[in-house]
Amino acid sequence: MKTLKIAIQKSGRLNEKSVELLKNCGLNFENYKSSLISPVSNFPLEILFLRDDDIPEYVQDGIADLGIVGENVIQETEVEVNYLQRLGFGKCSLKIAVPNNNDIQSLADLNGKAIATTYPVILRKFLQEQGIQSDIRTISGSVEISPGLGLSDAICDLVSTGGTLKSNGLKPFADVMSSEAVLIGSKGTDGNHLVQELIQRIQSVLRAKETKYVVLNVRKDNLDAVIALLPGVKSPSVVPLAEADWVAVHTVIPERDFWDRISQLKQAGAQGIVVMPIEKIIL
Ligand code: ATP
Ligand code: MG
Repeated sequence: MKTLKIAIQKSGRLNEKSVELLKNCGLNFENYKSSLISPVSNFPLEILFLRDDDIPEYVQDGIADLGIVGENVIQETEVEVNYLQRLGFGKCSLKIAVPNNNDIQSLADLNGKAIATTYPVILRKFLQEQGIQSDIRTISGSVEISPGLGLSDAICDLVSTGGTLKSNGLKPFADVMSSEAVLIGSKGTDGNHLVQELIQRIQSVLRAKETKYVVLNVRKDNLDAVIALLPGVKSPSVVPLAEADWVAVHTVIPERDFWDRISQLKQAGAQGIVVMPIEKIIL
């Protein structure tokens, strides 16, 4: 059986979460910072640790079958790869930002202005779509200091909390794209059964992350009202308690509207609510 290769970031914002995801999929491997390649002992897979910029091309050329990388890097490198799964981490937006005190009010005001970025390809496309002609200054890092140095009038950079912009006297002005980490594959790999197996494991870990396991007690009179509030995987399990009028209900609920759901359950008569994390959900 051919051993698959998956490329992940060697160090940086996506490294830790990528390693964690693969470990949660039950893959055993050493995560030495010094090694560039690490075999998985219990799955026919090798992990390549690379600069994130190189991952899309490695996957496009089939040197790695799979990769975990930000969508922003894929768009910037304009590679031909398959998007296999969004991974829910590394969320950020590519934004145009301008100095706090400036005369740029609308996108049209960017005509003739200099914009510094490490994402010239994405920015050029965006400006073209908007019919704006700016002078794109491609630099390799520390974009946020360029207006202060007089190098540009605006910047186009990745933002998550906006803290870096703020501390450099900049404010977000326009959204260019939003991004998160995704699993990509070389053309043709989606038919491979090992790839399918890995995608299924990843999906079961992601599903589990989005949900909590909840156990609660309720008087039988209130059971219908409580059940009406519970989606569950199929339907909740109802378990008798030593006290005849009471039952325990076991279910899973989405993390998304968790606190709303819990207060509704309390109002409907739920008591002794215990909430637990879930490791995997296999459908
Ligand atoms: P490398 O050394 O691998 O080239 P890098 O310095 O280019 O690393 P990082 O800063 O580690 O890259 O960011 C990796 C990815 O994390 C980005 O491409 C983006 O998809 C995502 N990300 C999430 N939040 C942010 C943020 N606030 N700023 C930058 N990138 C972010
Ligand atoms: Mg990089």
